[in-house]
Amino acid sequence: MNRESPIPSPESPSRAAVVYSPHYRIDIGRHVLLTEKFQLVHARLLTTGVITPADVVEPEAASWEQLALVHTPDYLAKMRDGTMTDEDVAQLELPWSFGMVEGFRLMAGGTVAAALVACEKVRSTKYEGRRASDFVPRTSDFRVVCHIGGGFHHAFPNHGEGFCVFNDVAIASRVLQTRGVERIAIVDLDVHHGNGTAFVFESDPSVFTFSMHQQHNYPMWKPRGSLDVGLNDGIHDAAYLRELERALPLVLAHRPQCVFYLAGADAYEDDQLGGLRLTKDGLRQRDRMVLDAVRGAGVPLIVTLAGGYARRVDDTVAIHAATIEEALRRPAE
Ligand SMILES: [Zn+2]
Repeated sequence: MNRESPIPSPESPSRAAVVYSPHYRIDIGRHVLLTEKFQLVHARLLTTGVITPADVVEPEAASWEQLALVHTPDYLAKMRDGTMTDEDVAQLELPWSFGMVEGFRLMAGGTVAAALVACEKVRSTKYEGRRASDFVPRTSDFRVVCHIGGGFHHAFPNHGEGFCVFNDVAIASRVLQTRGVERIAIVDLDVHHGNGTAFVFESDPSVFTFSMHQQHNYPMWKPRGSLDVGLNDGIHDAAYLRELERALPLVLAHRPQCVFYLAGADAYEDDQLGGLRLTKDGLRQRDRMVLDAVRGAGVPLIVTLAGGYARRVDDTVAIHAATIEEALRRPAE
């Protein structure tokens, strides 16, 4: 593994556009979450020429101190020591192993690295020694960094659930806050509500949490986020995109200094865990809409993959790869 720091210094800004590690492939036995999807997306982006090896940064695992910015000491001790109860394992829906925990810690580190790379320019030129009110976004501050991983939005401070061990986007948001970023927005378009993320930031108005999801689907309990749009079962592209178009200005009205995007592939019509009817083309339009909105706001964007459980793994891989292709496409093209 590349052990060099993924955090470039302001003097030598990184050109990296993608964060990924082959160690994201974790042995969790037979599971609807196919951890080989990360490797397959990475390989597809290379073979189609969307990225080159030089575009990719390998992350380090998030430190336990970084994890503790969101998670409780008791929960972290359980994960570290393998002292989960049967109920904990049932709720997480993943078997405990040292390798599993390390794999998710590495993916949390991936989102942290993506966030720091995306925000480095803004951080060095704007945040240090300045107040948030001094911040005036310019289109030139738009920068997108894609994490081929991440988006584990069901992880709460004191427990994991729904295949989510550590809430990487919440952790990365807290890391950015420690570096002076004052307003963050999270656009969560996974088909499932971002319950853990909403809970983490429930009483933190500086982080705007937007979730658009299938209302009658997991999780049963949906803590209130800043903006929740619960969609009816079986909604198609046009109605979905209309809702998104209406919501995005409300998100950007928060004047975020950077945006996280959870580009879940599980709103796809042939997903095993989703009940919406979006086509691949509709999902690509969804991605474009988010990208255009954030580009228009002129702030950095961090893309994470989140869920994706299509009957054919090829479909999941194609949808995730299309998200990154759109994200890295220059606007003039
Ligand atoms: Zn999901």
